[in-house]
Amino acid sequence: MIKFHPTEELLVKYVQGELDASLCLVIGTHIDMCPVCANTVKDIEEQVARSVFINELQGSASATPAQLPEAEMNMMLEQIISSHAPEKIVREPALEEITLEGKQFKLPPTLGRLGSRLGHWSKVPGSVWRAPVNLSGHDKINLIYMAAGASVPEHTHRGSEATLVLNGSFADEFDCYEDGDFIFLDQQHKHTPQTAQEDCLTLAWLNEPLQFTSGVARLLNPFSNLFFR
Ligand SMILES: [Zn+2]
Repeated sequence: MIKFHPTEELLVKYVQGELDASLCLVIGTHIDMCPVCANTVKDIEEQVARSVFINELQGSASATPAQLPEAEMNMMLEQIISSHAPEKIVREPALEEITLEGKQFKLPPTLGRLGSRLGHWSKVPGSVWRAPVNLSGHDKINLIYMAAGASVPEHTHRGSEATLVLNGSFADEFDCYEDGDFIFLDQQHKHTPQTAQEDCLTLAWLNEPLQFTSGVARLLNPFSNLFFR
């Protein structure tokens, strides 16, 4: 059961197309996995469509909603919803699963559609692997695979970090996160993600590099950019 979801504010920005394409990808992938947020997004889309609809009617000074036959009103709303729905980022043959360390992972459709943008896997210290999803723009997005018993050194965030658990689980000082959980952290949060007996595949978005706060990692400046390139 998913415990952590994007805030309603983020979902509204998602619907209105106000987010960076890479953050849209993380939220869209969460929505693929989360019926609760899928419903909320549907409601937001309807509300946005209604307000656009009413604005358009007021502009044209013709019929008011109450004077229109319901079927006609629904058709107009449908048209407005589809013209305001978040743009599908690209249409390419979808990648349905990936194989890592001999294990297969299914990719949710929103992420799978960007399969051809997935870069090479490289190893990061601490039994962690990363592969970038190459989208244009300033923000960075990576698939991050943590083997069982792996950890990322304690760090804080110069900007914001959004993490979506695709498969498996990890924990930090705040909680334990499982399939579908969406975690949004900023400069105020310092944490040390780690896995226990189970490995974990996540999709992680950053708008600034991480800042490592303890141990040797703190001294290795280039380490901060490991997840930001
Ligand atoms: Zn959700």
